[in-house]
Amino acid sequence: MAEKDYYATLGVDKSASSDEIKKAYRQLAKKYHPDMNKDDESAAQKFKEVNEAYQVLSDDKKRAQYDQFGSAAFDGSAGGAGYGGGFGGFEGFGGFGDIFDSFFGGGRTAQRNGPMRGGDVDVSVKISFEEAAFGVKRDISISRQENCETCGGSGAKPGSSTKTCPTCGGSGQIRRQQQSLFGSVMNVTTCPTCHGEGHIVEDPCDHCRGTGRVLRTRTISVNIPAGIDDGQIITLTGQGDAGQKGGPSGDVHVYITVKPHKTFKRDGVNLYMDMPISFGQAALGCELEVPTLDGKVKYTIPSGTQPGTVFRLRDKGIKYLRQDRHGDLYVKMNVVVPRKLTERQKELILEMEGMPNTREHKKGRGIFKK
Ligand SMILES: [Zn+2]
Ligand SMILES: [Zn+2]
Repeated sequence: MAEKDYYATLGVDKSASSDEIKKAYRQLAKKYHPDMNKDDESAAQKFKEVNEAYQVLSDDKKRAQYDQFGSAAFDGSAGGAGYGGGFGGFEGFGGFGDIFDSFFGGGRTAQRNGPMRGGDVDVSVKISFEEAAFGVKRDISISRQENCETCGGSGAKPGSSTKTCPTCGGSGQIRRQQQSLFGSVMNVTTCPTCHGEGHIVEDPCDHCRGTGRVLRTRTISVNIPAGIDDGQIITLTGQGDAGQKGGPSGDVHVYITVKPHKTFKRDGVNLYMDMPISFGQAALGCELEVPTLDGKVKYTIPSGTQPGTVFRLRDKGIKYLRQDRHGDLYVKMNVVVPRKLTERQKELILEMEGMPNTREHKKGRGIFKK
């Protein structure tokens, strides 16, 4: 999946305010709107891209995610799902009516029984330290509301019909002329008989009990990018609950948990580890075999290396998300003092240290004698 530049799609700066983004979107959506570009495939494609970009950049949470992870965070393979209806991708009805007003001069208004976006589905996934470092494709199981395939989402038993609501005549609204201080006003309320649907199901579908929706368990694939960290969230656009009445589907939020590693500690893109070395190795210097995520590498420490010295192995850390570079690995020298020594080793140490070779020292209780 190619990386998408949503800012470029909308022709705005990365630092653009939400007002600037909205303005740019409205201009472009108008320009490429299918109603204005009949039978123009490239305009339809553009319209889809503009919608996709706006859906992400108009949402502070999604925008922050995009800035961090790029469009990979919104798994492009799922991206189309919400936009099929042409008007998908609008979040909430504020924007919807708004856009219509700008296209049609206020001639149309969003109806109560208009499209409704599906709900979001949250799921958590636990991955290994290495999977986070190198990226992994995971199949996850989610439960989501889907349109009932028996009745096609209508809620009516196949073969039976839905009847136009007799109360409102199908409009879903009750209009009542009322007299007020200011004269005669039209009062519009949702029809109580059909709850704004405009029609009544006479014989409900057995499969979904007339709701038009069923809860389904589905397995979907998630591309978890290399460099993801514990606590981060991947959004799969349009993979959540189905929308209603042509509305876009909701999203799936994948909460990532990364298991700790037995050797490495991670802080962002950098790794940290303790390397046990002997006094002799520290004093004389040596070539060490240092474990990294890509296998062991040789690293030469100089003579006279002090305990606690930290060496940096460049580019041996975690990959930056969306970037072709890595953090570093910091290796701390942990000089291990032996707990048991042979008599011969004790003699050698005493000789080296220039200490008197007495019984007290040999038995290791010299200081307690005083
Ligand atoms: Zn059904
Ligand atoms: Zn009605």
